[in-house]
Amino acid sequence: MTGRDLRWGAATHPGRIRDANEDAFAAEPGLFLVADGMGGHQAGEVASALAIETLSAGRDELLEPPAVVALVRRANEAILERARVDPATRGMGTTLTGIVTPDHDPSRAMVLNVGDSRTYRWRSGALEQITVDHSYVQDLLASGMLSPEEARTHPRRNIVTRALGVEADVTADVAMLDLVPGDRYVVCSDGLVDELTDTAITELLARAETDTPQTLAERLVDAAVEHGGRDNVTVVVLDVGAEIATGFDADSEPDPPEPPRDDEPGIATEVVTDGESSSDPDPDRITRPDDQTADPDAISVSAPSRPRPRWQGRLLALAVVAASLGLAIAAVGWYARSGYYVDVEQDRIVIRQGREGGIWWFDTTRERVTDVVVADLTLADLERVTSRPRFDSADDAETFVRGLPSVTQD
Ligand code: CA
Repeated sequence: MTGRDLRWGAATHPGRIRDANEDAFAAEPGLFLVADGMGGHQAGEVASALAIETLSAGRDELLEPPAVVALVRRANEAILERARVDPATRGMGTTLTGIVTPDHDPSRAMVLNVGDSRTYRWRSGALEQITVDHSYVQDLLASGMLSPEEARTHPRRNIVTRALGVEADVTADVAMLDLVPGDRYVVCSDGLVDELTDTAITELLARAETDTPQTLAERLVDAAVEHGGRDNVTVVVLDVGAEIATGFDADSEPDPPEPPRDDEPGIATEVVTDGESSSDPDPDRITRPDDQTADPDAISVSAPSRPRPRWQGRLLALAVVAASLGLAIAAVGWYARSGYYVDVEQDRIVIRQGREGGIWWFDTTRERVTDVVVADLTLADLERVTSRPRFDSADDAETFVRGLPSVTQD
């Protein structure tokens, strides 16, 4: 049987801020995918895992684009069904992108995409994104309302307009690819591209020509974490070799995953762990009982044994300042938590209480998740929503959402 000499590697990291990793990936014969899950209470990782599992289970069916579209539909149904029987996962969704390589054709593959994860091709020293993001900023970009630079830093760049688990039906973009020896494919979640520009990714790839796919995947993930790591980041790298091997035999086994390297400088995972541990206060130092407290004499030393004449006055002044500060904090807290606004979380319109961005430690909270999804809205209505209009009550905010022209048309 003919086949291609494919080599691959994969790496993933939760990033520096998030506790959970809601990304999932496949890096196995015929299947090189990344899914970026979303949803509260870690339901996102259920959605992304279901997407990968469904495609993996149906891998042998993936011979032509219509079969890929059909299998992605099945993954969508699996996610919706899980959300139906398990209310804790309600509202979960996931992106899905990557490459599938049917065994019957030694030179061709297919690229698929739903959402804003990306598949890039590195060919002849040039990087090209071969998927089109299904995102709000991509729509603005396509309509000429944003420049690529503005799109990169747009505050609403996390809004996806197509995802699995959102609506009863979903159509994946699927295209045939000619696999050319020397091609290198990079499949990634937005945790990579939010931290690294295409120029930065290009520079990394240019320096990594001789790296194995596994080493490159780790380098890219490390770089994203080092540049901020604000989101989960996952990278699958697929290399198309010059030789034609037979099937997916031992030669095409992936490099074994390597543990984070300790011997190389500048590896972000190392920096992160070091940074976190060194910034942790020494618990012993804080909880260690002070020997002097057992000594009554020592206590009298630490207390003012001879109050100065104005000691009580100073204490009183301090109390007045503290009380004023308390009132000021209460006032800010009241202001910070007053009112409601409409916002978008991933693919869904939500109503939040408080002042956008929060003030001091008074964060906003999600008051309601409406059943209106981004995909239902026209671009004009989406713009009205992303301007985050404010309302006195949650009901007023919901009335606004229900009254959007593209919602009332349904
Ligand atoms: Ca993400």
